[in-house]
Amino acid sequence: MPPRSFKNARPRSNNHYGTTRAKGAASADDETAEAIQQETAEDDAEVDDDPSSSYKVRAEVVCPLCLDLWLDVVATPCGHRFCRTCLRRSLTRCSSRCPLCRYDLRHFDASVVPTDVEGDALLHALMPLWAIAQREADQAEHFELVVGNRSEFVPSMFGNQGNTHKWTLFVSLPGLQHHPLQRLIKRVEYELHPTFQPNVIVRYGPDFEFAAYGWGPFVVHCTIYWHLQTLPPTKVDHMLHFVPQGARTSIEVDLDTSQAMNLYQLMH
Ligand SMILES: [Zn+2]
Ligand SMILES: [Zn+2]
Repeated sequence: MPPRSFKNARPRSNNHYGTTRAKGAASADDETAEAIQQETAEDDAEVDDDPSSSYKVRAEVVCPLCLDLWLDVVATPCGHRFCRTCLRRSLTRCSSRCPLCRYDLRHFDASVVPTDVEGDALLHALMPLWAIAQREADQAEHFELVVGNRSEFVPSMFGNQGNTHKWTLFVSLPGLQHHPLQRLIKRVEYELHPTFQPNVIVRYGPDFEFAAYGWGPFVVHCTIYWHLQTLPPTKVDHMLHFVPQGARTSIEVDLDTSQAMNLYQLMH
């Protein structure tokens, strides 16, 4: 069954494929007590087996933070796997330790580590493709947008006007990294310090990057224009940092249900 028709058939709130099916749902529809009892009996007998979805969610591929299927799975040095967004949130908002084993993850950046290939293969081996696509579509109601810069030191020499660094601005969508950026992003405008002429730079795909030489950091006002016509441009202020590992500014972009549907269609 293609994911989209399934999507229309299933209530959006039922994100956990039957494992957390609300037992009160039947009574809300004013059905008979017998129907409720039957529903409860089914739940007790086989909690993982939702007849409407006809597959079992496998505990091996569930994120311990959101209790849903891994989404863009990443693995920690301690060998635990989470959705990229879940782990990133936990590390930035709660503690810099692994949520499962308390391993020190101070030097682990969940935004940049590559997708865990083994975990991704396991997910695809255990779950049907449409369930994975459905999970991506559910997640699409908000997604992470990153504006950042890389930088490299350039030795001072005749003619480079005192510039010490070459820096490169970029944008990325970490939770949607399997999809080309230009499917979603139409163009990116970087407004630089007024000493740059011109100081408004427009960049198009595929990579939307802009590189320049400079000597002092400043705030870049960045505006991302989306292909989704109903989604207004997103503004991000990013402070340049001239450090070897570069710097990143991360925000969440929120979508309403129809925007999420349109986004899903753009991606597939
Ligand atoms: Zn998760
Ligand atoms: Zn761990």
